[in-house]
Amino acid sequence: MTDKNGKVYLVGAGPGDPELLTRKAERVIKSADVILFDALVGTGIYELFPPNVKLIDVGKRADNHTYRQEEINRMLVEQAARHGTVVRLKGGDPYVFGRGGEEAEVLAKKGIEFEVIPGISSAIAVPAHAGIPVTHSDCASSLTIITGHEDPTKGRSALNFKALAGMQGTIVILMGLGRLRENARALISNGKPQETPTAVIERGTTDRQRVIVGTLATIADLADTNKVETPAIIVIGDVVELRKVLKKL
Ligand code: SAH
Repeated sequence: MTDKNGKVYLVGAGPGDPELLTRKAERVIKSADVILFDALVGTGIYELFPPNVKLIDVGKRADNHTYRQEEINRMLVEQAARHGTVVRLKGGDPYVFGRGGEEAEVLAKKGIEFEVIPGISSAIAVPAHAGIPVTHSDCASSLTIITGHEDPTKGRSALNFKALAGMQGTIVILMGLGRLRENARALISNGKPQETPTAVIERGTTDRQRVIVGTLATIADLADTNKVETPAIIVIGDVVELRKVLKKL
């Protein structure tokens, strides 16, 4: 490693549409020497990549496996030693379930200069695009964004389902498809009404977006019958009803 490290930008790519990037993100992407990106970055954004940039797709390895987080961390450090402007591009916002915090910690510990450029998180933009405001003065005065990865049946989940079930507001679950059934059950058994309106939004904001609406009790079956795939977001709460009025015609 040289003592002249470059600067790493942890950049939020937003929900997919290039027009939903910040101006700062666009400027940094256009001046990048190397861009490390992953599967959730909308393909429309590739068009902004400068012609001679070195591209590293960390969502896909040659052997079709994904890179482990430690490998990505190592690559970031290596690239910063070789290049002036390193862009780590992530879907949505880099600090919302994007492991951006972990990557920033590694950079900070190594003394590598970095800057975070926030992005519009799918947690907010995907429901919006599907006609669901995540808060509303009539029916939701809080928004809780959780990961669906935790196993609620194991008893050592980091999530407090009793508290979640008791909240009056909206719950948005990211990475929630795999455990949709367990999470819906855990909310119901902790007191969330089973008729709570619930939506699953697949590939939100893209032209292949699908929205499936049901209740907390029916949503897992509906997701199965409709063969919903990742990426998908789950929205739980009365705000889902607003879609009837607000969805695009
Ligand atoms: N940092 C990202 C989230 C990364 S976690 C952000 O702020 O948006 C990855 C999860 O985000 C996916 O499992 C899915 O739940 C959600 N997600 C991201 N893009 C999505 C999209 N276009 N449609 C539906 N869900 C999406």
